[in-house]
Amino acid sequence: MSRPLRVAVIGAGPAGIYASDILMKSGQEVSIDLFERMPAPFGLIRYGVAPDHPRIKGIVNSLHRVLDREELRLLGNVNIGKDVTVDELREFYDAIIFSTGATLDRDLDIPGIDLDGSYGAADFVGFYDGNPNFKRTWDLSATSTAVIGVGNVGLDVARILAKTADELHVTEIPDNVYETLKENKATEIHVFGRRGPAQAKFTPLELKELDHSPTIEVIVDPEDIDYDEASIEARHASKSVDLVCQTLEGYAMREPKGAPHKLYIHFFESPVEIIGENGRVTAFKTERMELDGSGGVKGTGKFTEWPVQSVYRAVGYKSDEMPEVPFDPAKNVIRNDGGHVITHEGEIVPGLYTTGWIKRGPVGLIGNTKSDAKETTDMLLADYADGKLTPAASPEPDAVTAFLDSRNIPFTTWDGWYQLDAAEKALGEAEGRERKKIVEWDEMVKHSRKNIADS
Ligand SMILES: Cc1cc2nc3c(=O)[nH]c(=O)nc-3n(C[C@H](O)[C@H](O)[C@H](O)COP(=O)(O)OP(=O)(O)OC[C@H]3O[C@@H](n4cnc5c(N)ncnc54)[C@H](O)[C@@H]3O)c2cc1C
Repeated sequence: MSRPLRVAVIGAGPAGIYASDILMKSGQEVSIDLFERMPAPFGLIRYGVAPDHPRIKGIVNSLHRVLDREELRLLGNVNIGKDVTVDELREFYDAIIFSTGATLDRDLDIPGIDLDGSYGAADFVGFYDGNPNFKRTWDLSATSTAVIGVGNVGLDVARILAKTADELHVTEIPDNVYETLKENKATEIHVFGRRGPAQAKFTPLELKELDHSPTIEVIVDPEDIDYDEASIEARHASKSVDLVCQTLEGYAMREPKGAPHKLYIHFFESPVEIIGENGRVTAFKTERMELDGSGGVKGTGKFTEWPVQSVYRAVGYKSDEMPEVPFDPAKNVIRNDGGHVITHEGEIVPGLYTTGWIKRGPVGLIGNTKSDAKETTDMLLADYADGKLTPAASPEPDAVTAFLDSRNIPFTTWDGWYQLDAAEKALGEAEGRERKKIVEWDEMVKHSRKNIADS
């Protein structure tokens, strides 16, 4: 082909942006359209990473350098599979990479999960991170709360519940979130893990940072610090596991600092039931577990009912299926062989690729999506070099935007992001903050398409 390789990347989260970056730096002449269903890019960096983690949110600044390149065009506010089908997209591109990530909660099948006051962590994250697809208010009347899950999302939820609204006001949280958090009555937050400290999925820094807030007292029962042979091996094998264990041991041994909000981290307590009265959560029941020698646990038959008025399950995220693309519901991923999309029978689907959480499942940090993207783009470039891609029928960049216009899809662009960004920064500056997030979908589109409206 005497023209650049035309690639559509679906999903402008870290995985899609890193995949685009690697393709642009590969030496192959490329022209990429990065589709995003939200009006703004950045995926879970904008709508997952907690607002009091400005260092991580700041990764957006390094991603700007990628999106500033002219070989890459952002087409936001376009939901692939709904506004435009995958089959329709194929007319415009030689290859398509799906990097659609995850936004929903995985299910937890225990009695009482549907009671009022029982929530999925992803819903709460969507609320406090100002995602317009989620609720705009939240019932924070519970004084005692349970959080199920000893991973970073569980810590995020527990920390946001344990901090005061004023501590969070310095961040980018929108007004509705601040006003709602001011009504937060939580003084005791109990985080529960089925297994032991060496099996916790926290990252060391997140766990350490918990204690930096003057309002939060992190408490670990010394009885919960227990290791079997497999746990000791896990500590030897991984510096990160060892650091997590050391931090937890520190929390278990130290003198209380007297902070008003108690954040308990419990190990060896397996969820059994959420108990309710009149349809509302009144307690959370767990079974005490013990290590079985191989890093697993077995039940002891000893049950505890913890009096709490709300329960958040942070047991993992779940991806949406992409219509027309083979999906593995058990693994929660697009079927793939490490990069190519494959059929249910294991055959490669020519021209379709996948990367990020939708390829690997919803685990791992932003940085992990980089190596993952490289694996996928290597396969794509090798297929191109081997003549395995069907050339697009309408590869001209204007053809696809004309198609979107013909569908009346008010797509947003990279220039549009700069305008939304400026509007959010201006709102923040007026209050002495770096940014205040704009939540409403229409408002985001309005700011993002200001250049189009003005022209
Ligand atoms: C609550 C939470 C907190 C986290 N905190 C941290 C942290 O502090 N540090 C860290 O390193 N990692 C953190 N992570 C992990 C990090 O967010 C992920 O590793 C990373 O975002 C995965 O990247 P991704 O691009 O695969 O998916 P995503 O970030 O989910 O991006 C996918 C993008 O695809 C878009 N999309 C989906 N469907 C369509 C469609 N049909 N059409 C068009 N676009 C579509 C989505 O809108 C989204 O923008 C956190 C994750 C969560 C859930």
